[in-house]
Amino acid sequence: MPTLTFAVLAGDYIGPEVMEEALRVLSHVAGQENLTLAPTRADVGGAGIDNHGKALPDSTLRTCEAGDAILFGSVGGPKWEKLPPAEQPERAALLPLRKHFTLFANIRPGLLYPELTDASPLKASRIPNGIDIVCIRELTGGLYFGKPKETTTLPDGDVQAVDTMVYKRSEIERITATAITAARSRKNRLCSVDKANVLETSVLWRRTVAEYVARHAPDIALTHMYVDNAAMQLARDPNQFDVFVTENMFGDILSDEMAVICGSLGMLSSASLGARKNSLGLPFGLYEPAGGTAPDIAGKGVANPCAQILSAALMLRYSFGMEKSAARIEAAVRKAVTGGTRTGDIAFGGKAVGTRAMADAVIANL
Ligand code: NAD
Repeated sequence: MPTLTFAVLAGDYIGPEVMEEALRVLSHVAGQENLTLAPTRADVGGAGIDNHGKALPDSTLRTCEAGDAILFGSVGGPKWEKLPPAEQPERAALLPLRKHFTLFANIRPGLLYPELTDASPLKASRIPNGIDIVCIRELTGGLYFGKPKETTTLPDGDVQAVDTMVYKRSEIERITATAITAARSRKNRLCSVDKANVLETSVLWRRTVAEYVARHAPDIALTHMYVDNAAMQLARDPNQFDVFVTENMFGDILSDEMAVICGSLGMLSSASLGARKNSLGLPFGLYEPAGGTAPDIAGKGVANPCAQILSAALMLRYSFGMEKSAARIEAAVRKAVTGGTRTGDIAFGGKAVGTRAMADAVIANL
């Protein structure tokens, strides 16, 4: 009987609420498919600060190290926002986790079912078949990690802050390889997004992606687009993209734009894959919903658990190699939502169910 060993870092506010439901769905699948689940829970984010004095406690890191994947909720919220920036839950937990496990590839499906087009701010006539695209964001390089990163007072008393955008060819090549795999699993189309008209890092990015694809994936139809244009094109006609790949900060912004045009954050999952292989020889990964801790609705039992459930499905796919089980969960979510069971964020004023009932509907469809 295969055993799935993974860390469960639920985090704060709605994090634990939606995580509970994702674990229920996984247990159900495990029961049906004769699998043993071995999840180990650990505190992270605000819970880490409250219970252990820091957002990513050493014991939590050890729990992550011991598993084959991390199922992550979300961290942060008003309770901790007065802490210094470097101690904020997101910055002090997620960024070090990404760095520690070299989680360099963030895969975000931008999926909007045709039945939910009303959830998108785009006109339904522009997305008659919904949205189905994938954003691949480089996650460990660029402006968020480059040094120097500091604020100094200048001799004349003025204050100056510096962030550094830096990329190595090897970093660009490995994210390109991930993007090629994603493109090959879909329509063999890849758009690389950069700002090569202004930034040195983007000039290297564009050249490296072009050379790597020409050398390793001549079957891929590769295009390039400037990031400002990409932001416009996403809002104008998102399905013109199939898979797009971009550097860290551009990906941060474009993936959030993608989340908005896809309707609710409550539906969007993500996978962050690392350079390291797990005990099964598959990528160690961190799987989390696209949204945050939603303090505005926390504790009310109304959060949409689908993003967390779909993140669990991605974990099965990428870190456990269980494509069939992953697809089964995705189909069950789709059937539940398109069948009319919806939490408030996607109910458009119609009848809304709570977090648990939403997960019950998914389980019923499995
Ligand atoms: P948010 O994503 O938490 O919420 C934005 C809006 O989306 C809110 O109206 C919220 O109710 C809604 N929403 C989000 N997830 C939902 C779900 N599952 N079901 C229904 N509605 C949902 O963004 P925010 O309000 O800007 O951030 C709140 C906190 O979360 C902040 O402390 C922020 O730093 C943190 N955050 C954490 C992560 C992470 O852990 N990866 C990501 C983003 C934000």
